[in-house]
Amino acid sequence: MANQDCIFCKIVAGEIPSDKVFQDEWVTAFRDINPLAPTHILIIPNNHLTSTNDLTPYHAAMAGRMLTVVPELAAKEGIVESGYRLIMNTGPDGNQVVMHMHLHLLGGHRMKHAMG
Ligand code: AMP
Ligand code: ZN
Repeated sequence: MANQDCIFCKIVAGEIPSDKVFQDEWVTAFRDINPLAPTHILIIPNNHLTSTNDLTPYHAAMAGRMLTVVPELAAKEGIVESGYRLIMNTGPDGNQVVMHMHLHLLGGHRMKHAMG
């Protein structure tokens, strides 16, 4: 269920280039093109969801995988002990720019404590 105009659907399908670090039947993870930290990975569902607003109980397995892949990626990045921040932006007030749900994994240097 790809959205024809969606850049992240095209990344899942391999139709535009990306630096993929993980893919399984549920999710794809790739490096953010404009990294805000030494590790900046985006974890996205393979099927198009606009945002967390589209989530239903049907998506539980996929949504669980979006989180359970995090420690695997953190281990590969060497940031398990140093730590990291997970961010999901939803809608205009959440500053969501790409309308395909995604989880930011940011690490490799100390984050500012405050949000925003
Ligand atoms: P958000 O503000 O949460 O919607 O963040 C969207 C993120 O997607 C930004 O951090 C962008 O740098 C990133 N991004 C946009 N296009 C691409 C792309 N083609 N490959 C990798 N990351 C991208
Ligand atoms: Zn999409």
